[in-house]
Amino acid sequence: MKIKEVIQFLEQKFPLHWQEDFDNCGIQCGDKERDIKEIVVCFDMSEAVIDEAIAKGANMIISHHPIIYKNSIKRIEPTDRVGKILCKALENKVLLYSMHTNIDSGKYGGNVLFAEKLGLQKLTVLSPHENQFCKLIVFVPTENSVLLKEALFRAGCGNMGNYSHCSFSSEGIGSFKPLVGSNPSIGKHNRIERVEEERIEMIFHKNKKRQIIDTLYQNHPYEEPAFDIIALENLNKEGGLGRVGFLPKPMPAQEFVQYVKEKLKLESVRYSGKVQEEINKVAVCGGGGASFITNAIAAGADAYITGDLKYHDFFIPENKMLLIDIGHFEGEHFIREIIVSLLKENFNIFATHFTEVESPVIVRA
Ligand SMILES: [Zn+2]
Repeated sequence: MKIKEVIQFLEQKFPLHWQEDFDNCGIQCGDKERDIKEIVVCFDMSEAVIDEAIAKGANMIISHHPIIYKNSIKRIEPTDRVGKILCKALENKVLLYSMHTNIDSGKYGGNVLFAEKLGLQKLTVLSPHENQFCKLIVFVPTENSVLLKEALFRAGCGNMGNYSHCSFSSEGIGSFKPLVGSNPSIGKHNRIERVEEERIEMIFHKNKKRQIIDTLYQNHPYEEPAFDIIALENLNKEGGLGRVGFLPKPMPAQEFVQYVKEKLKLESVRYSGKVQEEINKVAVCGGGGASFITNAIAAGADAYITGDLKYHDFFIPENKMLLIDIGHFEGEHFIREIIVSLLKENFNIFATHFTEVESPVIVRA
């Protein structure tokens, strides 16, 4: 089995188009055409993890954080941390692959697991992805509409949450005059033709645009099909960073802080804010989620748990919301569990190892 087949599987579960704009998920370096041997899963790539992979006979490392961020490096030399890691991986034919904000955002991804560890229920997305959908409006002779719709559904149109085959149709009259040089399937040259047509409307992910336009041309009877593609501002309620949910039962803020420490096995946290009141609705975002404090307030959360907060971030909620900083690693490290179990459950022809050489970079003392 080739490495690229494993990647194809992972990207079906967590597509690369789910990643944030700043990110660089996917292959960092290496040749995906090689046969897969074994896989090591880690949080951050390091020389130690590459040594571990070599010792275990693995030729693929999957990390949460990318080693190369968008536009971050211009040359690879073993003179700095990133260069040393990339050189070592390439010299030893180990492919480096990252699952970062694509797995954070997903339906079964890091933030969902984070929320589940706290027992949160009725989850919604804290910062839903925007500008991901388009609408197709196409006009087709009524007698051809069923076949065209079926082809467009197969190409990825009409999916909304847990619903497929979503469309809207209205009927009307289309008119056109085929000019000399045209090859009309209906009508004659230089005569205005009027045809009973169906106007079909369907939503699709912008990632499928090319495929959908090709399908439309292949399955529409007209030489020049009339269609519009419109970019939508609809939010993607299923994907995006962070989650918001409700505790199984409300609890006083001080008790909640202890509850968080217990559930996430933390020795300490940093917090401020609404410490006197009851906590019911909770927002979470693994990693560094300072930029979503306002989203958590807007969602009506009583508490927001994230990492990497600066001193001044704690002023933003103006004591209207409990703000807890558990650390960056502490809110994300369990993503490794998702990747390891996904691979173990689906592949038995190669071994997947949870790294044994990684510990948090920052030590709490
Ligand atoms: Zn992170």
